[in-house]
Amino acid sequence: MTNKDLANLIFPNVTKTVEDIEKMYPKRQLKENEEVTRFAPSPTGFMHIGNFMMALIDYIIVNNNGGVFYLRNEDTDKNREVDDAINLIMDTLKHYNIVPDEYEYDNKVVGNYGPYIQSKRMEIYHVYIKHLIEIGRAYPCFCTPEDLNLMRERQEQTKIRTGYYGRFTKCRKLSVEEAINKIKNKEPYVIRFKSNGDFENKIWVDDLVKGRLHLSENDIDDVIMKSDNLLPTYHFAHVIDDHLMHTTIVVRGEEWLPSVTKHIQMFEAFGFKAPKYVHTPLILKKEGESVRKISKRKDKEALMKYYEEVGYPSLAVIESVMTIINSNYEQWHQENPDKSFLDFQFDPKKMSSSGALYDLVKLEDISKNIISKMTKDELYSKSYEWSKKYDNKLQSLIEQDVDYYKNILNIEREQEKPRKDIAKYQDIYNLIWYMYDDLFTDISYEWGSITDISDIKNILNIYINDYYNDNDSKDEWFAKIKILAERLGYASNMKEYKKNKDKYKGNVADIATVLRVALTSKKNTPDLYEIMQLFGKSRIQNRFSQI
Ligand code: GLU
Repeated sequence: MTNKDLANLIFPNVTKTVEDIEKMYPKRQLKENEEVTRFAPSPTGFMHIGNFMMALIDYIIVNNNGGVFYLRNEDTDKNREVDDAINLIMDTLKHYNIVPDEYEYDNKVVGNYGPYIQSKRMEIYHVYIKHLIEIGRAYPCFCTPEDLNLMRERQEQTKIRTGYYGRFTKCRKLSVEEAINKIKNKEPYVIRFKSNGDFENKIWVDDLVKGRLHLSENDIDDVIMKSDNLLPTYHFAHVIDDHLMHTTIVVRGEEWLPSVTKHIQMFEAFGFKAPKYVHTPLILKKEGESVRKISKRKDKEALMKYYEEVGYPSLAVIESVMTIINSNYEQWHQENPDKSFLDFQFDPKKMSSSGALYDLVKLEDISKNIISKMTKDELYSKSYEWSKKYDNKLQSLIEQDVDYYKNILNIEREQEKPRKDIAKYQDIYNLIWYMYDDLFTDISYEWGSITDISDIKNILNIYINDYYNDNDSKDEWFAKIKILAERLGYASNMKEYKKNKDKYKGNVADIATVLRVALTSKKNTPDLYEIMQLFGKSRIQNRFSQI
């Protein structure tokens, strides 16, 4: 009995050979420096901001250098899988326009290196596992979970390194005949890789973020095929898929860094070239004075869905994630305000190796800037599309009168110093509702320093009767408010007021506040002149009469 007999017993239906499969995945026609990256999420029902960061890095690398960026659905952990999860991932990527060149989605396969869904690649994995068994680099292991628990407890008690290695590799020592008999007796088994490493030996491993690392060689005989569904483990699928799909740079979370020596050993066992690695740091969040890992249970901003739901422009989210991808991004962006993030040269060395601090306040700032630069038409169409999905109150305001909505958005917009009060589309309703007469009822006014209602009414009456005119320019309009202020005993000149406060009841700003609050209920609004121009005299009169 030989290893070949064992391999045939385990995989009686696998007839293809490694050579057959290799032919199906020929080398990609890449130009010098071009890279192949992949985003390989597990379909667990979430798109975490960490996933997004990785996809963005993959995308940028290929944009910088040319090459191919593909999406692979890593669905071998059937216990964690959620229906439709890959659609959510692809929809998120599309939302941000980070669309892979190759993918499998909606029953459509784009690219020649598929299937891009691991559960459809069973035959391929089995061909390679069969080959490893034939060459004596993999074997069936019949240890039960109880056996393994006991082994681990003993290792812990005697304070030695835990794991299936060296003298603990019980099933490695079985003869081919013994293994065959056990299989024939229907004993459940997994397949383990036969490591040839020595833990005492150190090897050099290159990570593009962390640099050269001096790590102990792997000596663990890892499981490469599970017993229940014959699916490969992550380690094995990574090696086979990234080899066959010709990935040149693997971008993945740093939780995989401790496994990299296993992977390198498996690449070597097949004589494959290992890819380069970018292990991305954890995303951190500041909480009070301390910093902790961002959590999908505690932090709304950990999930990509949040950003869509509240309506951050996709570019704002991308830019904010770019700031944690490379420490020099912000400065580059300041120096090149008109360039796209795609013009930025990603440098893995400028990525934090200890953790990336993500900051919603920074996102708000970035987003306010981006929205401030949108034209009214752009902001109208983006916010309208968003409102149809997430905010029907805003949607109905917009649909009442599209031009009026655009005019409201246009207050202090399309000018050199535009307004910066909108950070996300969700903010819009609260910033504009008062511009709609049917919402302007039962108002609680935020009066300023003048609070006496008869004083207020007096100011409003004189203003509307003696001064307001729809045709006034902004300068004329303001000059009249100053005249009104003086007439009522308020200083029109701030310098003069500061010098002689006792001479005045207040100053022109107090008068303007009365007008502003009477019209909008708020002390802070965008430009009052533009608001009045949009209302026109009769609506202004109407609002004044509500007080
Ligand atoms: N499916 C793995 C995960 O979601 C991917 C790791 C990798 O990119 O290789 O963690």
